[in-house]
Amino acid sequence: MPNILLVEDYEITAEGIIFALENDYESFNVHWSANGNDALEHFNNNDIDLILLDIGLPDINGFDVLRKIRKISEVPVIIITARDAESDIVLGLEGLGADDYVTKPLSPRVLVARVKVQLRRAAIQLGTSITNTLETPTTKKVFEINKDLHQILLQGQVVGLTRAECKILMHMVEHPNRVHSKEHLLNIMHDRPTGALENTIVTHIKHIRTALNKIDSDNEYIETNRGLGYSLIL
Ligand code: CA
Repeated sequence: MPNILLVEDYEITAEGIIFALENDYESFNVHWSANGNDALEHFNNNDIDLILLDIGLPDINGFDVLRKIRKISEVPVIIITARDAESDIVLGLEGLGADDYVTKPLSPRVLVARVKVQLRRAAIQLGTSITNTLETPTTKKVFEINKDLHQILLQGQVVGLTRAECKILMHMVEHPNRVHSKEHLLNIMHDRPTGALENTIVTHIKHIRTALNKIDSDNEYIETNRGLGYSLIL
């Protein structure tokens, strides 16, 4: 049963989350910490599979908690923040490496669904030698993903990418022929520092195209959908 650390100082919110998680059919163990220091201590002494982290805490704020955790662990973290706190969300996802966010007021069902997505993602990344080979009609366009090594191969050759670019392309290979918005791709690569947001993605896509082109200059893999985003065409 997955162990979840819930960091939330507001008791009513915490109770709602605990109820939703413990009564879901998949069921989770939830430990509740009402402040940041307690959460860090609990995290250091237990096997935690996922953290739900409120930003406004009475002792140290959630961002500091996240910073400390990221120094030692890649555990999935979902931040809990106010609905309109856009800068909190961007800092959490981009600057500090949170995996997802939910906004208050919370929908417990949405929260549980997002917890499951993150746990599945983490399980896939931990799995040994998971290699997905996508065979495509043109056979020349064959991608292989090695999640252990964070590598993508095109026609048997490693595509030379940074870690962030690898995440983006991996996501696109797994979900081909559909448009991914820049915002969505930013969420996928979450561990980049903050900067000119849209331009960051534009630059990464450019590098990915160049890297793919080095291996196969006959095909265009990534299509720009003006105003919408990008798609990987297979
Ligand atoms: Ca709070």
